[in-house]
Parts: sequence; C-alpha cells; structure tokens
Amino acid sequence: MARTRTRQPSLLGAHVSTAGGVERAPARGAEIGADVIQIFTKQVNRWAERDIDQGTAAAFRRALFEHSIHIAGSHDSYLINLASPAAMLRERSYRSFCRELERCRALELDFLVSHPGNATDGEGAAGLRRNAEAIRQALAAVGGPTRVLIEATAGQGTALGSTFEELAELLRLIGSRFQGRLGVCLDTAHLFAAGYDLAADYEGVIGELDRVVGLERVHLLHLNDSKAPLGSRVDRHEQIGKGHLGPGPFRQIMRDRRFRDVPKVIETPTGDDPVRANRRNLDYLRRCART
Ligand SMILES: [Zn+2]
Ligand SMILES: [Zn+2]
Repeated sequence: MARTRTRQPSLLGAHVSTAGGVERAPARGAEIGADVIQIFTKQVNRWAERDIDQGTAAAFRRALFEHSIHIAGSHDSYLINLASPAAMLRERSYRSFCRELERCRALELDFLVSHPGNATDGEGAAGLRRNAEAIRQALAAVGGPTRVLIEATAGQGTALGSTFEELAELLRLIGSRFQGRLGVCLDTAHLFAAGYDLAADYEGVIGELDRVVGLERVHLLHLNDSKAPLGSRVDRHEQIGKGHLGPGPFRQIMRDRRFRDVPKVIETPTGDDPVRANRRNLDYLRRCART
C-alpha cells in the first residue's frame, strides 16, 4: 500500500543497504521516512560486476512506487579511477564505470554519483583531462535517464575535484553535448575538509560555489558532519551536528530556498542499528528546517 502524504516531499533521505537484493532498498528508505535513497548497485570494494535482470528492475521500480520514494540513485565503486595515468587501471575503471551506468539505466535511476579520480603522478591538469575524456566516452556509449553527478572530494592524497575550480573545469572538459546528463554533488563533510568553511562563512562559500560552478549545476547534496577539521583533507563522516561543522550549516542548508528542490542524502555512520541512526539524523535535519 502506498502511504498517503499530506505534505510536500522534503527530498530528504539516506544511503541505504541493498542486502538481499536491490529491490529491498526502497522499503529500507520508507522505514526511515526517506523520500530519496542512494544505493550501491554492486560491491563497492570489488571489481566483480553484476547485471540487473528485468525481473529485478521491475521489482525495484514497484517497490519505489509502493514506498513513495521519489528519487533514487547510486554511488559508483570506490575502485574506479578514471583519472589514472596508468593505462590498464584507467581502462579497467572505464569498463567498470560503463557497467555502473548500465545498471543505473536498467533500474532507471535518477543519478549516479562519481568521485573524480586520483592523479597519482601529481599531474592534476592531465588527470582532469583523462577523467573528463572517460566520462564523455561513457556517456556516449551508454544512454539512459541517469544523470552523472561529479562529487566534490576532500582532496585526500592526489584526489582531484576538491576545489570548485576543478569541478567546473571537469564539467567544461566533458563538453557541452552532455551537460544535460551531468551535474555536481556536494558533500558538506568533503567541502569542509577541503577548506571551505561552511561553519564560519556559509554565505561566502555558497556565493563562491555559485560564481565558479553555478548553483543550477548542483543536483544532489550529501549531508554529513565532519570528524576531520577544516582543511584537513581527510574524509571522515560524523553524525549531523556532532562534528566540526556543528548544527549551524545544516540549519542554513535546510532553510536555504536555493536548495529547496535539491535532494539531500545522509551518509552518516550507522553503527549496528542503521534504522535508528538514520532516523535520528533525518529527524535532526527536519528540525533544522523548522527551527
Ligand atoms: Zn558523499
Ligand atoms: Zn565522504
């Protein structure tokens, strides 16, 4: 039975588990009151691929409808490095990324979040060009409704995409032909670790984002507090309001009309009780929107 809704969806949700099959994920979203879910469509730390058969895809779509999940997307594998200077790893990453897109197409997902790769040789500009080329080729090779969202990184090691300038450059290099299937995903924890002080200067950071990237390119927000301090370039998520970001920026984001229609997904630590932990963080964010 579909839940009857008397309110506008808040477009708030969480990364949820696909244990037992992707078709089980929408119920896990409903259990925590989510309008949006993000999933992995395979094991993220393995190269092994999987296919989505028609029956699974149909069961997934039915479950989304039954549980009133308005938006569903995926996050790509952690092994993929489309910017790698090593031809073999880049080729393997490219094939794996295409498979990610194929599974997204089969499931009719709204978005696929992709981390920019690592320029392990320290040549950032060349890394961005390789990354852009691979995404352009993949979008040309695999069609479908899914929008690829380049996620801003914390800038750990040689990770690309930790500045608004690099994100904008990556989008520009991918080229105008594919802009309708592209966008960015911003993670509050990553931005903060990369040196963007959302806690002390929220308006300044969002203003810079608008000038360099454009707010209209932001199609998803990852709302996570940060266990790591400002500018540490370390990616460690924390419960909302309990980390170095604290409650302030979340209150501002949840009340910011410019982000009203942008889906917001938490990827906060879940411990051994994901339902309880996710509910607590989502309730916190809903309170931020009200008070
Ligand atoms: Zn994220
Ligand atoms: Zn992260």
